[in-house]
Amino acid sequence: MISNKNKYEIYKPKKRFGQNFLVDDNISRKIIKSLGAQHDDVLLEIGPGQGALTKFLVNEYPNYTAVEIDETSVDTLKNKFGESLSIVCGDVMKFDFSSISRTEGVKIKVLGNIPYNITSDILFKLLENIGIIDSAVLMVQKEVAERLTAEKETKQYGILAVQFGAFAEIKNIFNVPATAFFPKPRVTSSVIKLAFNENKYTIANVPLFRSLIRNAFSKRRKTLKNSLKDFFGANDINNCDFNIDFSRRAETLSVIEFVELSNEINSCLRYK
Ligand code: SAH
Repeated sequence: MISNKNKYEIYKPKKRFGQNFLVDDNISRKIIKSLGAQHDDVLLEIGPGQGALTKFLVNEYPNYTAVEIDETSVDTLKNKFGESLSIVCGDVMKFDFSSISRTEGVKIKVLGNIPYNITSDILFKLLENIGIIDSAVLMVQKEVAERLTAEKETKQYGILAVQFGAFAEIKNIFNVPATAFFPKPRVTSSVIKLAFNENKYTIANVPLFRSLIRNAFSKRRKTLKNSLKDFFGANDINNCDFNIDFSRRAETLSVIEFVELSNEINSCLRYK
């Protein structure tokens, strides 16, 4: 049996790019299956690396594009799959998602075993592009998956659960042990699926909603009355009767309650 190390000794993974390559094809197949993509769908892979997922995608999906920051990996992939491979060498954080979704009404399906050091930046970038993204299947740290899918009144419940719960159905699909990667990460990973839905709730003022959540959870042990002092300092509102009891703490509010509270606040704003 070839050990994970021997398989990859020609290529030295780069820590600075968070490179932990998947070396278990069964897991690659399961990830792709979870995406549920049709032949003509527009696919974007973030961080293809040495091609653990790419090799199952390039011949199946003509509208596939990858974004990879590491030039060596880009070269390897072009050697493996041909110069015509649609791959952008660059930082996904600077990538313009709309550049690949030109066809009106066709939304992108994103997938990737993404670098853990920028997981939350990537998640928020996807959320910013919600209008053109259908769904995303991502390998993340188990802890991040738990925070995304957390129920209220748990330690994991916070900004991620509320921000993403308000705009997506989130499923924690399966866990992946460290042994499926080379080099082995120190953490267990999980594959999650986010099915985005801009209209899951009616949120009158999205920036206000985001700011409310950030503020509410910035001091999660405190009551809303205390944690929202700065927020109400910055947002001038008329006297308002709120349905929510402000002696509650942020972690006791469901996503829907946050949506309702933000809508109530929005309707009482003195200046809009
Ligand atoms: N998907 C591959 C590689 C996972 S490692 C596999 O499953 O084996 C994470 C990959 O993301 C690496 O290839 C790394 O070079 C790439 N990467 C890291 N930061 C990136 C960024 N900012 N933009 C695009 N790709 C990035």
